[in-house]
Amino acid sequence: MSGAVRPALVEVPGGASTGSARTGSRLKIGISACFMHADPARPLFTGKTLQYVEQSIVHWVMSTGALAVMIPSPSGATQRGDATLDDFAQWLDGLVLHGGADVSPRSYGEEPLQERWSGDRIRDEYEMDLVAAFERHRKPVFGVCRGLQLLNVAAGGTLYQDIQTQRPDALMHRDANAYDHNFHTVDIRPDSKLARLYPGASRVKVNSIHHQAIKELAPGFDVEAVSNEDGLIEAIRCNDPARPYIAAVQWHPEFHQAGSDTIDDAALLADFLAAAAAAKKKETETA
Ligand code: MN
Repeated sequence: MSGAVRPALVEVPGGASTGSARTGSRLKIGISACFMHADPARPLFTGKTLQYVEQSIVHWVMSTGALAVMIPSPSGATQRGDATLDDFAQWLDGLVLHGGADVSPRSYGEEPLQERWSGDRIRDEYEMDLVAAFERHRKPVFGVCRGLQLLNVAAGGTLYQDIQTQRPDALMHRDANAYDHNFHTVDIRPDSKLARLYPGASRVKVNSIHHQAIKELAPGFDVEAVSNEDGLIEAIRCNDPARPYIAAVQWHPEFHQAGSDTIDDAALLADFLAAAAAAKKKETETA
């Protein structure tokens, strides 16, 4: 035993301890990859495809003692071996879809209104395959920002390609200069699970770094929060009992700073990890 002082680890409700030195008992959460596609002009890894994660999202997932790993796409020009996304879904306890490039309008049957809104179709297809794999293995999925949009599209919904163009009445949901210091308020639907996670908080402040948003909500999903000034959807949850836990928020809980007046991130994470712990327990019992 080392004498090092460990930070207090939050006990995840729902079973499986994520604390202690027993690495095997920690929850294992997969993070979907962002892509930096091959670029002959890039000085590093010239002409190579990069798959990467943004640091805050893995630190957020690990904040209670869970382990976060990026799930690389096994597809692409350099593909080798026989590992599949199903293998990752079986091995891991849950999936987080994080932010990044736009969802391609072609993923929901539209042509881009402008070329710069073409999005990343390769990442869309990889993440839709990931969601399907985790569903097959009955493992929970949580989406952040692009992740919310992707889950909506994967289930048959559509997006505004650009809020300012298609909803000129709407708030500024992205400010390139303010970035994660661009905020607005959202109303949490009183009958939602989100309301139970944040008792007493009906109107809360969130960060906002998106220029796309849900247009038509996918069947099987409930709205859990809306931007109160323009009605744009800011949180959704799957209501289909035949599907595993699937929830998502349009804001970035991983960018929440302790002591700020934006909605706390901990309850959202604890809820998702409790679902992951329950899925892990069920799998252990039926193994
Ligand atoms: Mn917003």
